[in-house]
Amino acid sequence: MYRKYSDGIIEVITGPMFSGKSEELIKRIRILYYAEIPTLVIKPKIDNRFSKNEIISRNGTSIISYSASNTKEIKKLFQSKKYKALVIDEIQFFDESLIEYIDELANNGIRVIACGLDQDYKRRPFNIMANLMAISDDVLKLKAVCLICKNAASCSFRTSATDNTIEIGDTDKYEARCRQCHQKGMKKNKKN
Ligand SMILES: [Zn+2]
Repeated sequence: MYRKYSDGIIEVITGPMFSGKSEELIKRIRILYYAEIPTLVIKPKIDNRFSKNEIISRNGTSIISYSASNTKEIKKLFQSKKYKALVIDEIQFFDESLIEYIDELANNGIRVIACGLDQDYKRRPFNIMANLMAISDDVLKLKAVCLICKNAASCSFRTSATDNTIEIGDTDKYEARCRQCHQKGMKKNKKN
């Protein structure tokens, strides 16, 4: 994975819910820590699923993080110390102005790792992730296991009845599905 890159690059970790994005992110943060690269870890303020200042993966490992609600706050935090790397989790919750800042950082020798969903529960791309993938140097698209047919899953299916694009939830509201099972589920919901 870590061939020799220049210092400033953008790495993206994406995929549906339950695909192990946080585990992969934590693994990479740990490598940065071992390499003694000063790293700022950001989470959006909106995400209160688990405790506030940690990224916790499903296998229980955790990393300390800071919460920010917009690009301005991330800039302020990043400039507060001599960081050499910026990690952003759940990037789909930030607005697209963040892309320009991330690009600027990478151009200036900062390693940026962005993690988040690529599609919403209706399989509509999150613009920030779609555009970031296009300008990034490395993309890892993970798969989950489809809860219906057990094949590889690249979609998040919402099981609770609400139409909000952003609806925070876990296994109570979402399940991983493959393309075909996702489609079947959407058709069934329409009929109901
Ligand atoms: Zn399936």
